[in-house]
Amino acid sequence: MTERVITLKSFFEEVRAGRLTAIRCGQCGELAMPPKEFCPACQERKWVSVPLTGEGAISSFTVIRVAPRGHAGETPYAVAVVKLTEGVSLLGRVVDLPLESLRVGLPVRFRPLVKNEQTVVGFGPA
Ligand SMILES: [Zn+2]
Repeated sequence: MTERVITLKSFFEEVRAGRLTAIRCGQCGELAMPPKEFCPACQERKWVSVPLTGEGAISSFTVIRVAPRGHAGETPYAVAVVKLTEGVSLLGRVVDLPLESLRVGLPVRFRPLVKNEQTVVGFGPA
């Protein structure tokens, strides 16, 4: 095996660099993201990394009005499950979109959100 193993850590390093990467099972073709150790479909461990376009559409969202610890002052904000064009879904923070404009099916585009030493997945206007 010469491919780089995609771990959760390297997944977020890629996110920080502005790239979304999924892994595809070399055995059955299942796409997984964020990375898992074993394929949930066939229990194999033959991952191949796949770059994603970062384009997708909101499939569900929640507006957070009471912030978790450490996020006071950021509310209200929304988190959304975005179904990417490649077919995988990913949870991310909604940025640069008015909360009242959010709806299921709204096209969005991935962008990294880097704050202090933390990197999270964000989704902004497509
Ligand atoms: Zn598989």
